[in-house]
Amino acid sequence: IRYAHHAEPLGVFEIYLPYAPVVTSIKADTLRAYAALALGLLLLWLGLFRTVATASRQLRRQSDHNAHQALHDALTGLPNRLLLHDRITQSLRASDRDLRPMALVLMDLDRFKEVNDTLGHRHGDNLIQQVGERLRATGRAMDTVARLGGDEFAVLLPGVDGDAGAMSAAERLRDALREPFEVAGLQLSVEASLGVVLYPSAAGDADVLLQHADVAMYVAKRSHAGIAMYDRADDHHSTERLQLLAELRTAIGEGQLVLHYQPKLHLGSGTVRGVEALVRWQHPERGLLPPSDFVPMAERTGLIHPLTEVVLRTALVQVRAWCDAGSPMPVAVNVSTRSLLNLEFPDLVLTLLTEHGVAPELLGLEITETTIMEDPQRALAVLTRLFEAGIRLSIDDFGTGYSSLAYLKRLPVHELKVDRSFVANMTRNERDRMIVNSTVALGQSLGLDVVAEGVEDAETRAALEDLGCDLAQGFLFSRPVAATDISGWATGSWATGSWAVGNSLPV
Ligand code: C2E
Ligand code: CA
Ligand code: CA
Repeated sequence: IRYAHHAEPLGVFEIYLPYAPVVTSIKADTLRAYAALALGLLLLWLGLFRTVATASRQLRRQSDHNAHQALHDALTGLPNRLLLHDRITQSLRASDRDLRPMALVLMDLDRFKEVNDTLGHRHGDNLIQQVGERLRATGRAMDTVARLGGDEFAVLLPGVDGDAGAMSAAERLRDALREPFEVAGLQLSVEASLGVVLYPSAAGDADVLLQHADVAMYVAKRSHAGIAMYDRADDHHSTERLQLLAELRTAIGEGQLVLHYQPKLHLGSGTVRGVEALVRWQHPERGLLPPSDFVPMAERTGLIHPLTEVVLRTALVQVRAWCDAGSPMPVAVNVSTRSLLNLEFPDLVLTLLTEHGVAPELLGLEITETTIMEDPQRALAVLTRLFEAGIRLSIDDFGTGYSSLAYLKRLPVHELKVDRSFVANMTRNERDRMIVNSTVALGQSLGLDVVAEGVEDAETRAALEDLGCDLAQGFLFSRPVAATDISGWATGSWATGSWAVGNSLPV
């Protein structure tokens, strides 16, 4: 079954007829039989033709529909990655033939996850649809706007005027999103990071072009520049990152991760209430690397799970050692979203506590507000189990997320840690001071401890005491230091409720 405008056959129809009676008929009366047979076949064929025609029409419609679905995104109706790939390949050929440059723009919305989390997926989807529509309306008819999944879009621009032309097209796309969108009765303006790659200045096929645009987009996002043009030098970053990732895998297994400890102080009495464990990577060639160099990378890959486990083990070995030395010191460990939202996480923590013979009261876990808001129900389930086991729980970076008071009231936690960004400027910025103030008040009314992070000077310390915030952490007291440097801090014992602070802390 073939249609003129369809190059490929759509189907095959087979008819089986018994031949033996035909032979007998021929023998009996050749001529009459032939005529009857011919007539029979003709009638049969005519009858079948209608059925076949209807069936094939349906088949064609279905196959058109399938073809469309395979090449388009269901939510926005825009071309998908597969079709984009095809169009890029065609466009590369046309560009070679006509000697006209073309460009590819990759775009990722900034902070889209927050929209999804706060307004719900339905409104998130609606925003994605509107963004797709806006991009399509902004481009020229010859441009291809595609959705690659999530909040990622691509725009293929055949025929641009070199670097400058590609950049101004990208700027137009970005500016198109600045005009607010109406979602759930709210006016939202959307920021995006755009990576631009020009052909033929960077040679390659569709895959290489997409990969280069991705590198540029990563650079744009990281530098908060909004738009970045692909630069071969940036590739080093991406290969360097890949190498570092491979090395991290080994580092975790080979004990290259070390913990530094920073004291959490009670301001009134100047006693150390406990320490926060902060991971560092003692890299054989690059030296001591801060967590920002490798924790986000571990979070994007599955490596965060072994990392969290190694950090917990190292911290518990240290607590055990302090206990054995007769001066137990509580330690708080930072837990990433992906580890916390793993329903098996509480079992891991409890097993490790038993393994090291450490009382749950000596272990604290710090969880960021955004982690909890990512999946409040699951977070609640995991936190409840940990809380009931007697582990101390803190909400880290408090004030930077969107947690609602309703959730906060239900969360089984002991402590809020006011984010460093508010504390750092509270003596100069009235708004920041008010945020610290209201967090302290909130903590008091919910019966939670409030810790101010990032206290760097005596003035801030005094301001905190004025507000009634009596727990603090920061460079003023001590930078995070190796475990061996801690012994000098303590002159008392945990048995008396807290450690007295020795000479090394200028309290
Ligand atoms: P965080 O949990 O908010 O940790 C506090 C960070 O503030 C630490 O940076 C600490 O060195 C720094 N800090 C403390 N006092 C001051 C101060 O007075 N002034 C300034 N400017 N900074 C101060 P660090 O060690 O680089 O850690 C950064 C982040 O990395 C941590 O933020 C935490 O989110 C993450 N992190 C650290 N260790 C781990 C870990 O073992 N696991 C996971 N998942 N994340 C970790
Ligand atoms: Ca922390
Ligand atoms: Ca923090």
